[in-house]
Amino acid sequence: MAVAAKSEGPAIGIDLGTTYSCVGVWKHDRVEIIANDQGNRTTPSYVAFTNIGRLIGDAAKNQVTINPINTVFGAKRLIGRKFSDACVKSDMKLWPFKVRGVGDKPMIVINYKNEKKQFAAEEISSMILSKMREIAEAYLGLTIKNVVITVPAYFNDSQRRATKDAGVIAGMNVMRILNEPTAAAIAYGLDKKAMTIGGKNVLIFDLGGGTFDVCILQIEDEIFEVKAIAGDTHLGGEDFDSRMVNHFVQEFEKKHRKDISNDPKALRRLRTSCERAKRTLSSTAETTIEIDSLFEGIDFHSKITRAKFEELNMDLFRKCTETVENCVRDAKIDRKIVDDIVLVGGSTRIPKVQQLLQDFFNGKELCKSINPDEAVAYGAAVQAAVLHGGVEKVQDLLLLDVTPLSLGRMRQTGEFDVFVPRNTTIPTKKTKVATTVLQNQTGLIVDVYEGEETRAEKNKLLGQFVLRGIPPGPKGKPQFTICFEIDANGILIVSAEEKELCLENKIIISNYRDRGGLSNVEIAKVIKEAEKYKVIKYRTRNLTRK
Ligand code: ADP
Ligand code: MG
Repeated sequence: MAVAAKSEGPAIGIDLGTTYSCVGVWKHDRVEIIANDQGNRTTPSYVAFTNIGRLIGDAAKNQVTINPINTVFGAKRLIGRKFSDACVKSDMKLWPFKVRGVGDKPMIVINYKNEKKQFAAEEISSMILSKMREIAEAYLGLTIKNVVITVPAYFNDSQRRATKDAGVIAGMNVMRILNEPTAAAIAYGLDKKAMTIGGKNVLIFDLGGGTFDVCILQIEDEIFEVKAIAGDTHLGGEDFDSRMVNHFVQEFEKKHRKDISNDPKALRRLRTSCERAKRTLSSTAETTIEIDSLFEGIDFHSKITRAKFEELNMDLFRKCTETVENCVRDAKIDRKIVDDIVLVGGSTRIPKVQQLLQDFFNGKELCKSINPDEAVAYGAAVQAAVLHGGVEKVQDLLLLDVTPLSLGRMRQTGEFDVFVPRNTTIPTKKTKVATTVLQNQTGLIVDVYEGEETRAEKNKLLGQFVLRGIPPGPKGKPQFTICFEIDANGILIVSAEEKELCLENKIIISNYRDRGGLSNVEIAKVIKEAEKYKVIKYRTRNLTRK
């Protein structure tokens, strides 16, 4: 099939969600959220391997009950993580598909046309990103190369790097990895641009399918300053679904004396029904679950009330409010001076979640003007347009970011000496004075760590250097100036200087939030592998369209 060469289109923003993904583009002086071929503005983050080929998005999710062990979802929970990670271990128990550790890397094992295949989470994510790009290309009639991808605020280096790798594997140029709450804030700021004179504090409450993010930002004179971020990488709609699944597994056991918890297909069907029931309970007080032949030919029909659903999840809902409280504390503001509270993410439609949040802010009205499922992609699209250039209307927006974790060095005592506390707005520069602690000490070791633990070694070591050439002498005499500087691009420079002795050394950690993950050689290998599947994908398309 000959395809006419298309010219290169604009940059797009992709919200690569745990459960749903969304793509937006800056067009006609505003953001457009692009619907997929099914007419849906969000696309399930699902990839399925079937006899006829590979399916992505709605098509994959729709066949999940008949093909549970070869349908992959929630890859975002694995991306950039180690197999030994406790989160991976607990997530695996809820997944019908298989995950095994290769070295300490989790690999998703599926059966494709009677052949065992292994995929890293970044490969699965790259397939979802490709799908989102295709949605945009089909709509725009242009090829898309440049992209901004969002991640939860609490993603560490390796998760961010692996997400970037996913974009590279999909053949895209990842201009930036952006925090989801920051993206939502950008979307909100654009909406209310005209009304922000005098400055205001906005709290973004993003409760999605798999992640929870809270962000407080100050908007003044078109500057968005992120004051604090907080969240939970493992709290969202899927957890509420799980609670309901467990509830009905117990009910089934009571009613029929049969344990369905080891039957992945039954569990998956139950989960699908529970998600639907949960959505219904956001607008009604009671709903039914009806699954024919759920287990060993037994039909399962039951009811659940909104009150029961709330009871099953109350501790999780309360956790959300606690996180908000922590975030407000981190921002060093009184909850009374939060001007707007913005709801983001599909799970913010749950009335109890809204009520608890509203109660926390003494009955203040919540903002729902931004479509909660699209706000992140909206902001990502704006950021993409800013970075790609040529967009006058958004060019003048100064977008600030914060450090997600504290940065510092190890003291001789082994303690973590914080230079740049978490949630510090970048660019930033922090200096401290140090001296020798030993007689005749001739070198000063500077270990750079990132984390929140009081013992340095429990944090992540980012780099190390030694300032040598200190002349032997009594301890406590030389005066070292140690400086941590992060520029607007997220490049961390740590330097140590002794002015009198003319000694200086430094380490440059370029994009310190973006390291770890696959090596370039590994990426190249994965890209090759992805190319192979591309062929299959087009074949699949023809087949499904018959
Ligand atoms: P993510 O970006 O984390 O993938 P989204 O913001 O798209 O998540 O939200 C998806 C979650 O929202 C799912 O768990 C879904 O069940 C839930 N959700 C969607 N609509 C509703 C609703 N009306 N009531 C309760 N939960 C909902
Ligand atoms: Mg989301």
